[in-house]
Amino acid sequence: LEAPNGTKYVQPTGLFINNEWVKSSKGETITSINPTDESEIAKVQAASEEDIDIAVKAARTAFKSWRNVSGTDRGKLLYKLSQLAEEHKDILATIDTWDNGKPYGDATVDIEEIIEVFRYYGGYSDKVHGQVIDTTTNKFAYTIREPIGVCGQIIPWNFPMLMAAWKLGPALACGNTVVLKPAEQTPLSILYFANLIKEAGFPPGVVNITNGYGKEAGAALASHLDVDKIAFTGSTTTARNIMKMAAVNLKNITLETGGKSPLLVFDDCDLEQAVKWSHFGQVCTATSRILVQDTIYDKFIVAFKEQVKTASVIGDPFAEGTFQGPQVTKAQYERVLSYIDAGKSEGATLYHGGQPHANPSSNGKGYFVTPTVFTDVRNDMRIWQEEVFGPFVVIASFKTEDEAVERANNTVYGLGSAVFTKDLVRAHRVARNIEAGMVWINSTQDSDFRIPFGGVKQSGIGRELGEAGLEAYSNKKAVHVNMG
Ligand code: ADP
Repeated sequence: LEAPNGTKYVQPTGLFINNEWVKSSKGETITSINPTDESEIAKVQAASEEDIDIAVKAARTAFKSWRNVSGTDRGKLLYKLSQLAEEHKDILATIDTWDNGKPYGDATVDIEEIIEVFRYYGGYSDKVHGQVIDTTTNKFAYTIREPIGVCGQIIPWNFPMLMAAWKLGPALACGNTVVLKPAEQTPLSILYFANLIKEAGFPPGVVNITNGYGKEAGAALASHLDVDKIAFTGSTTTARNIMKMAAVNLKNITLETGGKSPLLVFDDCDLEQAVKWSHFGQVCTATSRILVQDTIYDKFIVAFKEQVKTASVIGDPFAEGTFQGPQVTKAQYERVLSYIDAGKSEGATLYHGGQPHANPSSNGKGYFVTPTVFTDVRNDMRIWQEEVFGPFVVIASFKTEDEAVERANNTVYGLGSAVFTKDLVRAHRVARNIEAGMVWINSTQDSDFRIPFGGVKQSGIGRELGEAGLEAYSNKKAVHVNMG
């Protein structure tokens, strides 16, 4: 294929099982669409229930020997994979930009992180130890950290390569085998990456990559009786379904789902810092509700609008300086527009944006919308409660800290949250009182692979990354010893 930036490469389109490329047993395919101009990029094989079963069998067979490969050797393979990711950085970023529509700079940052993630977990592979615990004088116990087994991993379209790396890294470090299902909207980079997994030297069946539809391939994986764990990132609705399906054999689960992350702006903050709304919104931790103290409310919204106007350069994701590309699919684009309608009909004030954007470089084609800001938003409005997953933010004012925290906690979600204030005592108090898996003080959306990532309430179960990632992919076996 030739990508819009002129990069030529060979795009694999099959199912990657046992280190081989195979076709879908039903002959079904999924078409990958370029969201920038709505053109077809490639047709890829779609896994059926039967294909998932074949992949799970391959992973089960591979697990028998992979679990006994030493941590040092597993680490070497992860280092090699990190090195190959680095060598193929530009092409991986190109494919993600083409398939997903995210700006090329953002895609490059994603790939830079995956290089680190594989290196980080490569370093951990030989450090997943148990513990000795003394109990009484003639008894003690020790723990053994064992891999969980065959892990199904179901990932979304917003960070195709990054979500794959967050899940593959710790799973492989702990000695599990994997069947990974990419999002059907953005499978291309991960399929390309499969060849690198093989080149790095991972034995057949250790990593299987089976693209397919959620309702078919995803559901087959979540309900498979021989899958020991499901790790999922995606919408809360799908997570609920997955949890039900995973119940058939009480699978271990890690779920990272939606958010409606608040940003609390107190009147003693650095306003310039607080108005920097970073991101185009197709991010689960994206700031989507802003609460501003009434004493600086008017000043804040004017400065914020100015910032959105100047920073949000919408356009071709390959063009330099683009801040926001298209929404990933037509469905997602229509979803954002429907929330714009909802906000208007619920009586909130449309303060900025709120319409489709005709992109000149693709002759008006593509799924572009202007960043949208609503003010005067109440708790009972859908646009306050529901995740939009687009360049869409709602703003309201508050008087006291208690009121701010109460409104911040007033959704079913609890993923990210941020507080801007120079009063550090208040910052830490808010951090304790807020219902969220992550809190940023005087910044937003920082993520680092060394730090646990995940949500509370309906934003998820369990944690990814850091040492928490190793906990999520290993069991502790307790061995009791009686010395008589
Ligand atoms: P979105 O609506 O943003 O696409 P989803 O949660 O539906 O988010 O998708 C995230 C991942 O979950 C994708 O890989 C998708 O194919 C998968 N998926 C969707 N529906 C199901 C399902 N019923 N069972 C298992 N996986 C699913």
